Amino acid sequence: MPAITRFDGKYAIVTGAASGIGRATAARLAEEGARVLLLDRNAEALAEAVPTGDHLTRTCDVSDEAQVAEAVAFAQAHFGRIDALANNAGIICDRSQITETDKATWERTLGVNLIGAAMMLKHVGKVMQAQGTGAVVNTASVAGIRSGAGGNAYSASKAGVISLTMTAACDLGQYGVRVNAVCPGLIETGMTAPVFDYAREHGKEDRLGARAELRRYGHPEEIAAAIAFLASDDASFITGQALPVDGGNTASLNLPG
Ligand code: NAD
Repeated sequence: MPAITRFDGKYAIVTGAASGIGRATAARLAEEGARVLLLDRNAEALAEAVPTGDHLTRTCDVSDEAQVAEAVAFAQAHFGRIDALANNAGIICDRSQITETDKATWERTLGVNLIGAAMMLKHVGKVMQAQGTGAVVNTASVAGIRSGAGGNAYSASKAGVISLTMTAACDLGQYGVRVNAVCPGLIETGMTAPVFDYAREHGKEDRLGARAELRRYGHPEEIAAAIAFLASDDASFITGQALPVDGGNTASLNLPG
């Protein structure tokens, strides 16, 4: 198979790059020729995640706007431009019922997943707007489309990311900047490790992904491939869209019978 070089000579930022989907995305973009700035709040794991080649890392908590502004200025100083942003950092705090979810959980979850993504878009969006080109891919979730895949705060934060994808795409489209989202289904990563560990410990591994039409769970590289597509010129006329990458999970109502 010929090497794909869609990002040759391009510069990308990936947030939440130390683990799971972000790490796989940084690797994929690097493999396709990009120079990547990997951002994460976990400095130790970040150092382990750098793909082979000439890439940069920066510790950054996306829920802190000052850190976001500093990281984007760092990218500009070293790269001189930003062609792609994988806006991916996220957390899940708990899966509590609406009557039990405390305000701190709401604030923490929205602070990282929604406001953090918005702050990255704000600062990278200014750079891309001035360039007159650029592509952003937000990592939302099937939890933002249907209930049952996360707690109240997590699901609402991801529905917010889908909405943010549409509004930002409308704000930035006139400047040649595209904004899309992926909505992953169940993927084996650090975030879902407790779910996978529990299922394996209790002999229930076959239930993982059983609701997906492909009858399996997904892998970070499969989300990275979709992010790379949406960030590339292959998606040059796609903006404001949220693409489920979920083995068909959201295609069905999964009614019994
Ligand atoms: P992960 O825990 O393996 O990776 C998330 C990374 O984000 C970690 O390295 C973590 O340190 C970093 N991070 C968390 N908060 C941060 C912050 N405030 N600032 C900077 N970095 C921060 O999980 P993952 O599954 O790879 O998650 C990536 C994205 O995919 C998240 O937005 C998550 O909500 C989304 N997602 C995951 C799944 C799944 O099944 N794993 C499904 C749908 C959506």
